[in-house]
Amino acid sequence: MKIILFGLLNSLLFFTSCASEKKTKLVVVLVADQMRPDHFSRFSKLYSGGLKWLMDNSLSFQNAFHQHGYTATGPGHFAIGSGMYPGPAGVLGNSYYDRELGKVVNCVEDPDALPLGGEGKGRSFSRYNNKAVGDFLKDVYPKSKVISVAGKDRSAIMLAGNNPDLVLYYNNIDRFITSDFYADSLPSFIDNFNNKLNLQSYRDSLWTKLLPDSLYLKHSREDNFSGEIDWYHVQHDAINNKKTYSDEYEPTFPISFDKNHDPGQELMGTPWFDKVLIDLSKMIISEEEMGLDENPDIFFIGLSAMDYIIHNYGPFSQEAMDYFIRLDIQLNELFKHIDNEIGLENVEFILTSDHGGLPLPEYLPKLNLSGGRINRENLNEAFSWIDDEISEQFDKNLYYRDWSNFYFFHEKLKKKEFIPEDLEKIIKKYLMMVDGVKNVITKKEILSSNDTDHISLRLKNMIHVKKSADVFVLLEPGYLYRNPHGTSHGSPYDYDAHVPLLFAKKERDRKVISLHTETVDIAPTILNLLNVKLNNSFDGKALPIR
Ligand SMILES: [Zn+2]
Repeated sequence: MKIILFGLLNSLLFFTSCASEKKTKLVVVLVADQMRPDHFSRFSKLYSGGLKWLMDNSLSFQNAFHQHGYTATGPGHFAIGSGMYPGPAGVLGNSYYDRELGKVVNCVEDPDALPLGGEGKGRSFSRYNNKAVGDFLKDVYPKSKVISVAGKDRSAIMLAGNNPDLVLYYNNIDRFITSDFYADSLPSFIDNFNNKLNLQSYRDSLWTKLLPDSLYLKHSREDNFSGEIDWYHVQHDAINNKKTYSDEYEPTFPISFDKNHDPGQELMGTPWFDKVLIDLSKMIISEEEMGLDENPDIFFIGLSAMDYIIHNYGPFSQEAMDYFIRLDIQLNELFKHIDNEIGLENVEFILTSDHGGLPLPEYLPKLNLSGGRINRENLNEAFSWIDDEISEQFDKNLYYRDWSNFYFFHEKLKKKEFIPEDLEKIIKKYLMMVDGVKNVITKKEILSSNDTDHISLRLKNMIHVKKSADVFVLLEPGYLYRNPHGTSHGSPYDYDAHVPLLFAKKERDRKVISLHTETVDIAPTILNLLNVKLNNSFDGKALPIR
């Protein structure tokens, strides 16, 4: 009863504060890749454009988390687009071992799909049989448009679901493409846009800081910081697919394109990519006449460049800060365009992220945190000891190891009357010897656990009973496999799971809400906002927005 009353009171409060809001004709979902909530709070005084507008006109959920353990791009975008935990739905990672095919697959791999609109990979949602938020919308409003664009293929595809009107992703060469899973041909305005991109013109570009140095020192750490990638001096040996670093380590502004590569291959890791993506988004909104009729539309925009920049320099870097200052400007352009075309009062904006991320391990002590990088030699040694002991005591080829995930060949084990627990013991024995490994945990242990702490729940939500690996490694908080430079994400810990979540509309009163929310709540909330009756296929719940 208490809970119901609390819920009722909450809804009443929201209703009264936003009684005058106009009916939503378009929902714009911005998914920023690897954005942490502190990218709002730390730079809030510096924003004057789109990010400021989002802050000032939004309900901001301060305790929003991805409630699944493997916090990566594919699973994160899936949770946002589908309102379901990724594991039970079969989204095991950005790539994972497919037991039926006997090989590692990309999460949006589709052997039947061909690229459309240019060179690249044909990708699709065909590996999954659930519906996503756009599919449910179209069940009720068949004329609604669902469009998804992103730098990364998996980002655009996981958000879009089964039956979108248009999915576009960058081919890492020269243009935005789709696959024949989605369409027979690309709209001609996309071809025109692609043909005018002229990415060669970026070749001599230098990424310099937009604001005075003093502001970067105030809001970020120093520019030259150990652990950042020294992109300017990195040398790519394309033939041997190797990177070497020059002796002089100086990971500082200005940052240029690697002269050994074509600018189109590197564009997605630079702030210039957002300009291209936002220009494309503006064009799509106009050409597809989004948000103009009574059938509500959804437009997903995946900001993928951010992920590369934060991976390379860390979330507290000056590079990340400068990126966000530029994003603030780009989003302002987008919102101005939407205001002209549709009217901001008719549009609901959502901003969230597919995962958070760890500060550079080298910077953790400054934040009074501990961590480090896993020693690759030690890890590989442990892997080879495991292989040796299992093949000596049992047999060879009893499992497939995808990085640190062990997929047992169960039929083979059964036939030979080997007990999985005996293999697990050997795997645990050696991996627990690696510095930074907190636990080696089996699928059975995860699924049978009755613990209800967030870490246990997140681990459970990354598991598919049949498809998942049998043994996983859980690193200590603050530890990374990435070595020697850059940072990453992927753990079930809060720094990887905690993301921004804002619902913004013109003249909505800014409100900060501390309620625990999950990214699987976003899809049912969108449908609720659009007055689409919810079914019970979601793991999330509709949040009180109006
Ligand atoms: Zn990501």
